[in-house]
Amino acid sequence: MAAKIRTRYAPSPTGRMHVGNLRTALYEYLITKHEGGDYILRIEDTDQERFVEGATELIYDALKKTGLKHDEGPDIGGPVGPYVQSERQASGIYLDYAKQLVDKGEAYYCFCTPERLATLKQVIDGKEVTVYDKHCLHLSKEEIEKNLAEGKPYVIRQNNPTEGTTTFHDELYGDITVDNKELDDMILIKSDGFPTYNFANVVDDHLMGITHVVRGNEYISSTPKYNRLYEAFGWEIPKYIHCPLITDEDHHKLSKRSGHSSFEDLLEQGFLVETVVNFIALLGWSPEDNEEILSLDELIEKFDYHRINKSPSVFDYTKLKWMNGEYLKRMDDDKFYELALPYMKEVITKDIDFHKIAAMVKTRIEIWPDIAGMVDFFEKVPEYDNAIYFNKKMKTDAESALPVLKELLPLVESIDDYSNDNLFASIKQFVTDKGYKNGFVLWPLRIALSGKEQTPCGGTEIMEVLGKEESIARIKAAIAKLEA
Ligand code: GLU
Repeated sequence: MAAKIRTRYAPSPTGRMHVGNLRTALYEYLITKHEGGDYILRIEDTDQERFVEGATELIYDALKKTGLKHDEGPDIGGPVGPYVQSERQASGIYLDYAKQLVDKGEAYYCFCTPERLATLKQVIDGKEVTVYDKHCLHLSKEEIEKNLAEGKPYVIRQNNPTEGTTTFHDELYGDITVDNKELDDMILIKSDGFPTYNFANVVDDHLMGITHVVRGNEYISSTPKYNRLYEAFGWEIPKYIHCPLITDEDHHKLSKRSGHSSFEDLLEQGFLVETVVNFIALLGWSPEDNEEILSLDELIEKFDYHRINKSPSVFDYTKLKWMNGEYLKRMDDDKFYELALPYMKEVITKDIDFHKIAAMVKTRIEIWPDIAGMVDFFEKVPEYDNAIYFNKKMKTDAESALPVLKELLPLVESIDDYSNDNLFASIKQFVTDKGYKNGFVLWPLRIALSGKEQTPCGGTEIMEVLGKEESIARIKAAIAKLEA
């Protein structure tokens, strides 16, 4: 039997859970669980400057809500802990490993001052970067020891070749070869003694037995440097799976500006967690059968990582809303009612049958905030123009509506059983007796009761919810408005 695969989700606690990070977490989880492997959570907090208070809690919260249950992690422990990099750093492991590389000639101490480094700045692809010139690689052993003894601030840099090429393999992109002159001597240990992400991730992935590394493709350019580290240590290189960029509808990298770039944003906007997970799974992947509505279990079953796309995937907000509507339609009625109630109560203060209203909107809304505009007329008829009585197909308008409503009034006043079934049967009978067409009566009735061209239900259903007194009052008010 093949050894279990091990993946890690390694977020940095720097703020809200970006959709791209959640997708990485999800893909890692799906790849792992598809193969029955172990999913590890590691918190990468060595960049003290980017650390945001409370962000670690957001990570736990998002994993819990989405059901991405880790098998090892800071909160539950495991055989290869600690699972927080700052705690690992405290034991000095990163520095120890970096010193091993120094001994092998694969890394070196660098004592250059910020002033000197400032002179090495270059603009590459419009971005200002410091390309280190290996100045300190040539320091003598004595100079290095003297500097260290004097307590001069230092960093440890990777010693990369400047000639030849380095090739690495990605499971999706195949072999990628880069010119070694593009590999800068990146910092492994910073002057504050903390490792850089670039170094810590390699050490930890090795020590934690990670077999598959899944991450955004912005890391592709760093991967040859990681591989040189693995090779310098003589460690086995994991399988790499780089995921495509996620863009907004304008094909720019999905950023905060879009207003929906994080998991938390989406929940605040009223999306269901199940929808978000399903939608994010399809940002760069699709199953062979092209099925779009997939539960987490179905995703696990179908997730073949070879089907991850290489081209950027567009975050289609309209599709997200559609998908949420599909989840709402499938939701258990009682659960839907519970969750919809606060949104109905936002616009309806009277004591009416909210169960009936919930049933009306269930198949019609896409997200919770759609409810308000759909049911507010139950509270009060909005201001409207009599022109909305016009309907070409139903052959009605304000002029024809007036006599019809006047004829209907005594009938609805005479009915005592205000159930939808009874109301509908009585009005249907009235329509037949008068020789009218259904819509010729029902269209103006619904407008008189709601003041709206579009409602989530028919006139008699509105009457059932409003009750006799209010229904009659509304019809009378509509007649008066048509007469005015
Ligand atoms: N800590 C890195 C981040 O949050 C992880 C990248 C990786 O998965 O290696 O971007």
